[in-house]
Amino acid sequence: MLVLVNTNTMQPPIAPVGLEYVAAAAHEAGIAVRVIDLGLADDPAATLETGLAGCDPVLVGLSFRNADDCFWPSAQWFVADLRDIVDRVRRYCDAPICVGGVAFSIFRRPVLDRVGADFGIVGDGEQALVRLYRVITGQGPLEGVPGLIWRRKDHWHENDPAWPLSPKVGTHRDLVDNATYFARGGQIGFETKRGCDRGCVYCADPLAKGRTLRLRDPDEVADEVESLLRQGVDVLHTCDAEFNIPYTHAVAICEAFERRGLGDRLRWYAYLAVVPFDAALAAA
Ligand code: SF4
Repeated sequence: MLVLVNTNTMQPPIAPVGLEYVAAAAHEAGIAVRVIDLGLADDPAATLETGLAGCDPVLVGLSFRNADDCFWPSAQWFVADLRDIVDRVRRYCDAPICVGGVAFSIFRRPVLDRVGADFGIVGDGEQALVRLYRVITGQGPLEGVPGLIWRRKDHWHENDPAWPLSPKVGTHRDLVDNATYFARGGQIGFETKRGCDRGCVYCADPLAKGRTLRLRDPDEVADEVESLLRQGVDVLHTCDAEFNIPYTHAVAICEAFERRGLGDRLRWYAYLAVVPFDAALAAA
């Protein structure tokens, strides 16, 4: 069994879309998956203990979305909390622990050094975590796991991330309790693409998602949005770089939504660059 733990307990809550995509990929690959969502837990420590009790996982994956809260008055830093979660997981099971997620992909080795996990995955986690699971169960070498950071003797070794040009993710969105996140005022996200080819000096997005624009199939994005609508989730936020880059993909996404008649049933928010933006995109 693969256990995936959402370690993000910030409030208001953010539904763990990346973890859900990884869970869907593992499920699709025939791996039994258990999600332990600390973001919805009243008592995260107890939820972690209960979730790990008696399941004897092959691998535990920890998603790490935020290294800090990006808010000067509170200045919360979450690496120490992640260290605490790693220690607790080791108390309850012997499985190797792998950290992934956006914050991990940005800070990588300093995070691994501080939290004491066995592995980390930089970039897209869907295929990588499935490959790592296979390696741990005796199929293939660690060198074949995209984006994997692992120890070779006393040194960390880093495999190149895969950055697939057409990311494929699960569209059912039924492995995380998105409806409860929504009811609690949380943000529910979806992706229309990954990566960014711009060079804004203040931005970490290209570190976490690559420097190439990698576009999803617009109809698969619409399938995913319809899945969330069926759960009563009708306000969404894109987890992308600027939506209107590239312009043609933005129009294609809007047209896919329009073909399904989603326009009147859905409100969604996106980051946009000032240009390109014109009447045709506004109308779409
Ligand atoms: S365009 Fe947006 S996502 Fe891309 S580098 Fe600039 S700020 Fe980051």
